[in-house]
Amino acid sequence: MKCRVCDGENLNQVLDLGHQPWCNNFLTKNQLNTEPRYPLRLMYCEDCRTSQLDYTVDKKIMFGDHTYLSGVTKSLSEHFRQIAEDVDKRFGDDFQKKSILDIGSNDGTQLRHFQNLGWEVLGVESSKTTASIAVSMGVPTLNRFFNLECIKDINRKFSVFNAAGVFFHLEELHSVTEGIKQGLEENGVFVVQFLYMKSIMENNAFDQIYHEHLLYYTLETIQKLLGRHGLEMFDAFLSPIHGGQMIGYIGHPGVREKTGRLIEIEKEEALSGCNAKTAYIEFAERVEQIKHRDLEYLSRKRREGKRIFGMGAPVKGNTLLNYFGVGPSTIECLLEKNELRRDLYSPGMHIPIRIEKEIEEWPDVFYVLAWNFKNEILKNHKDLIDRGVEFYFPIDPR
Ligand SMILES: [Zn+2]
Repeated sequence: MKCRVCDGENLNQVLDLGHQPWCNNFLTKNQLNTEPRYPLRLMYCEDCRTSQLDYTVDKKIMFGDHTYLSGVTKSLSEHFRQIAEDVDKRFGDDFQKKSILDIGSNDGTQLRHFQNLGWEVLGVESSKTTASIAVSMGVPTLNRFFNLECIKDINRKFSVFNAAGVFFHLEELHSVTEGIKQGLEENGVFVVQFLYMKSIMENNAFDQIYHEHLLYYTLETIQKLLGRHGLEMFDAFLSPIHGGQMIGYIGHPGVREKTGRLIEIEKEEALSGCNAKTAYIEFAERVEQIKHRDLEYLSRKRREGKRIFGMGAPVKGNTLLNYFGVGPSTIECLLEKNELRRDLYSPGMHIPIRIEKEIEEWPDVFYVLAWNFKNEILKNHKDLIDRGVEFYFPIDPR
């Protein structure tokens, strides 16, 4: 394969998570026997040091008509509101006419916050269902994939581009980045959010690796990509959302001065050595240790006759369950708040989903897949903890 960022051919495997199904595809009973699986391997580019998956599940399968709605999660909507206010306050006055294009605009949650602040907005969203929800809420939205061709068709410039949680999905990485370069006004700002590989490694959060995430950036590696297309990062900070995401601010070269906090994070990153191949090899070793530790724990609990439920059925939880090979003989069910998942089964391991508020019996142990909500979960279930129910976190973020 060729590196997705630098086109180099010097890639080596650093972590093999086996053959896994598309982990966002929760299944009905009838679908259990026809589930395709694909390799899930993390590769390291010796030339530009970007880590990435080598196998691409077709974007039309993954994003053609997804039903994930960003407006449903309260904390996420709050996060989007903060981003809009921050961008408006810092850069709003720089533009004669404030306009924003949101790539992967979902149900328009982010753009509604900008509309409220007087911005002219346009969403580009590949899912027909979510795009039409956005349109019905008064957010102008094109139902297509964003790329160079798309911006040529739109044929105008924007003062801000936003890409929240899509920049690591992109199959057409260079076409998208070039499209942003061409569509961004002279003093415009591109706001990008991406999973930060340094945090993933520090937290041992290998479950963030799944087919939808094709690329795992650090500041060093994303800046190599941006540099190829004549773009430059001038600010970045780490946000706690989704268990650690980097938010970067990017412009045309030389237009805005690099902030002190970006220089500081770059220094920390360089000192940590997280871009070296050895860091990845050590990360893979820790992942293997976690697997052994947890399998030992789970089988001991089962031998003792304990009942185990999974807490949450997040997409990332399926990476973990499939890699560990933990199925319904160990974990009886996964408790979930999202009622759209009622009567469905987890991809790959086929553990039944049950809706949390409909549960009348409690297990001895909760194996917490939604570990990024640790504080919230421990607080909400204090009564269960007092009654002796154990909450086990396979991944415990620093
Ligand atoms: Zn490369």
